[in-house]
Amino acid sequence: MRPSVTGFDVYDIRFPTSEQLDGSDAMNPDPDYSAAYVVLRTDGPARPEGHGFVFTIGRGNDVTAAAIEALRPYVVGRPAPRSAADLAALHHDLTHDSQLRWLGPEKGVTHMAAGAVVNAAWDLAAKTAGLPVWEFLAAMTPEELVSLVDFRYLTDVLTRQEALDLLRAAEPGRAERARLLRAEGYPAYTTSPGWLGYDDAKLVRLAKEAVADGFAQIKLKVGADLDDDVRRLRLARAAVGPGIRIAVDANQRWDVPDALRWMAALAPYAPHWIEEPTSPDDILGHAAVRAGQPVKVATGEHVANRVVFKQLLQAGAVDFVQIDAARVSGVNENLAILLLAAKYGVPVCPHAGGVGLCELVQHLAMFDYVAVSGTREDRVIEYVDHLHEHFTDPAVIEGGRYRAPRAPGFSARMRPESIAAYRYPDGPAWLARRPAQEVIS
Ligand SMILES: [Mg+2]
Repeated sequence: MRPSVTGFDVYDIRFPTSEQLDGSDAMNPDPDYSAAYVVLRTDGPARPEGHGFVFTIGRGNDVTAAAIEALRPYVVGRPAPRSAADLAALHHDLTHDSQLRWLGPEKGVTHMAAGAVVNAAWDLAAKTAGLPVWEFLAAMTPEELVSLVDFRYLTDVLTRQEALDLLRAAEPGRAERARLLRAEGYPAYTTSPGWLGYDDAKLVRLAKEAVADGFAQIKLKVGADLDDDVRRLRLARAAVGPGIRIAVDANQRWDVPDALRWMAALAPYAPHWIEEPTSPDDILGHAAVRAGQPVKVATGEHVANRVVFKQLLQAGAVDFVQIDAARVSGVNENLAILLLAAKYGVPVCPHAGGVGLCELVQHLAMFDYVAVSGTREDRVIEYVDHLHEHFTDPAVIEGGRYRAPRAPGFSARMRPESIAAYRYPDGPAWLARRPAQEVIS
């Protein structure tokens, strides 16, 4: 008897990160890193579980959890997904509900909720296969991989046949690249030195530590005050020297003219890219920023779906595509985005950090290297060094590189004791922070 999904548990989990200003940037001064988290339970003999989540930064995590809950009828009672066909069908059902679609379409909370459930299903299927997700994906045929993608709205730029041709062209060498990944890992960069809430001394100390730890790239948050940013970038450049890449990230803070003015002032310190200079929906604005100043443009962590990525690439608006594992509708839509980037020859440098995003997205970048783009050239995965202790298979960095995950699944499983402690609003970590009178009444 094939196992079925018998349980669908949704949790609102929040970490009080705003207390340390970890994660502070020009748009998000006080995030409490959070996960609207879902566990798919099954009745198979080994009872494998699938774990997935949406990352949020605090308030609204309950709204996201409710959106995940709305997808329960599509999952409970379904045979536990195992194959590309199962995962394609589930992705289709979760993103094509005729009533829920009205809330997007294919963007925002409902879309991210679908992504959490899709990713949980991938975790479950990969565990059932006994493989980490990157290897599970990289073991699929080009035909299976193409079957996972929703090509609606893409075929003016990328047809099924073109995607198949790209994947077939990358088939030779898959085994060798997988071997190299296991031996060498995948290059990372770190954002840990550059949070806007850190003072200059902490910035300089952490920048030097990052280089000593083997990172060849760091990232600084910018966008609140130009004089401060010039000073911070100058200090960082002096700390790391000319051979280390320093990316800067404005987190959508600017209008296009602000971005041009700001980047003209920062350009002398040779930033590697400017990330999210303006609204993630403003394709032509990104193109104008790219054309109007000398620094390369990166975006993607808030790009809603494959259609916006398609247009960013069509318009020549980006130099780097920053996929996020928990923003779009999961592995399936990220596969579409990897294929679009490969068609345009634009490097994918995934967004990570938050809680659990490093754990997830490393699998997609490694799969991209093995089976889609075939290269690690000009590619780096973001790394932020916090909250990994809450995961049972945490991302591991050695010498500035992600080590290839070996445990089956998506590295998404949070420790049960962390879920219990940080459940909002009634986990002990949150009860301890409530004003005394509130706890009594
Ligand atoms: Mg960013």
